Amino acid sequence: MPWCDHCRKFEEPEALGKNGECPTCSEIIGEPRPVPWHFKLLVVATIIYLGFRLIQGIVWLSQHIH
Ligand SMILES: [Zn+2]
Repeated sequence: MPWCDHCRKFEEPEALGKNGECPTCSEIIGEPRPVPWHFKLLVVATIIYLGFRLIQGIVWLSQHIH
């Protein structure tokens, strides 16, 4: 369990902020939490989708501009 020098108590790892900061004094006392894999997947899916839409748009333009 991460120890906070500032508050002089142990903090639950789940209670820490996403950068590992103490919920009481915001001192960094733990490891930053890793980005959850489903969030990364969502970002990748969004990029692929946007890329696909961009290609669709380029194809549409090339068919309508002469
Ligand atoms: Zn603290």
